[in-house]
Amino acid sequence: MSGRVVIVGSGQAGVSAAFKLRALGYQGHIALVGEEPGLPYQRPPLSKKYLTDEADVERLHIKARALYESERIELRADSHVRSIDRDGKQILLADGQSLRYDHLVLATGATPRCLPFEQGGNAPNVHTFRTLADAERLRTGMKPGASLLVVGGGYIGLETAAVARRLGMEVTLVERDTRILGRVASAETAARFRALHLANGVRICEGVELKRLAHADRNGKTAWLANGIAIDADVVVVGIGVIAQTGLAEQAGLHIDNGIVVDCGGRTSDPFIYAAGDCARFPYRGQQIRLESIQNAVDMAETVARSIVGGSAEYRPVPWFWSDQYSTRLQIAGLNLGYTHVVVRNTSETACSIWYYDGPRFIAVDAINDAKAFMSARQWLSAGRSPAADAIADPGVALNAVPLSNIH
Ligand code: ADP
Repeated sequence: MSGRVVIVGSGQAGVSAAFKLRALGYQGHIALVGEEPGLPYQRPPLSKKYLTDEADVERLHIKARALYESERIELRADSHVRSIDRDGKQILLADGQSLRYDHLVLATGATPRCLPFEQGGNAPNVHTFRTLADAERLRTGMKPGASLLVVGGGYIGLETAAVARRLGMEVTLVERDTRILGRVASAETAARFRALHLANGVRICEGVELKRLAHADRNGKTAWLANGIAIDADVVVVGIGVIAQTGLAEQAGLHIDNGIVVDCGGRTSDPFIYAAGDCARFPYRGQQIRLESIQNAVDMAETVARSIVGGSAEYRPVPWFWSDQYSTRLQIAGLNLGYTHVVVRNTSETACSIWYYDGPRFIAVDAINDAKAFMSARQWLSAGRSPAADAIADPGVALNAVPLSNIH
């Protein structure tokens, strides 16, 4: 199959779409246009090991340079796309060039939400982070003995707090909601992560909003909290969520609703334009959702590649995620959206899993240091099977002996 595919965004989704097209035998021209300099890299290690280790940047690369050449993928790094001309089927770059397409893939990702300007969000030493450049800037302030304020108790905030404690920094985390992990996990899961961080010496302030960051000595900051408490910090990391990058798509008049709306084949409201990854909102069990994960970026991008080569591709994922904090590994399978209750399975002193049910239907698990629970859950979710809650709650019942039922 010949033609021209242009992919905008060279994160995990963009790269996966490009290489999958070749793997499926697509013979046409593929251009991968990315705003960041250098080779596309993996983001998950940035908030984990990479923050403290002088790790080799090459190890972060998704694909080696030679592969772009051998697969004939034209990588245009450091290139900003200004607009999409849908009638002319071309994109216009900031440097004045244009690229024609038969199929366009938007893999524009998401950007971190910033603290408002009035709260000091743009002050020096206040970091949001998503890119390699962000991680490198932040890393210069990550020093033993220095103090860190983390704003936001989601996975990004918690992972950063863990890395900083490991390094010997003094860490305070402020969460506006009544508890950490409010958006993504149950109270039971949050309780375990709260305990983990407290045991590792993080000071956690929940149910308190950051009011304002003010200048303190030596470039540091004083954080004023809504309850009148002031916290001094050398470095501030803001991890308060992300916003889908939909600007280009919006300008082009595509259907947007907290993300670029796509069908289960990854098609937007324009049949020649697709979207994948963090920026795309897709159908999932009767709802439209957006996910921020590697699994979603890779699998949706591969679906898009199949759609482009003419297959009847459908994206029906069993989502999975992971988070590393200290020596604890959390693995999540499924989505807990709309859960009615959880069942806790305490496998050992250090391993447990929190199982989410929507009535009788099993929908997701948070497995903490428990790879077996994660694996079983993934299998059951993809097979549409629900494990009996009473057997799950009893660690004496082996997972392979848990009764299963078909509940969709
Ligand atoms: P991320 O992927 O960046 O970790 P989440 O949305 O999962 O994003 O978590 C962000 C957390 O930040 C949420 O728990 C939210 O309640 C919290 N948050 C948002 N705004 C503020 C704020 N101004 N001060 C403190 N916490 C905040």
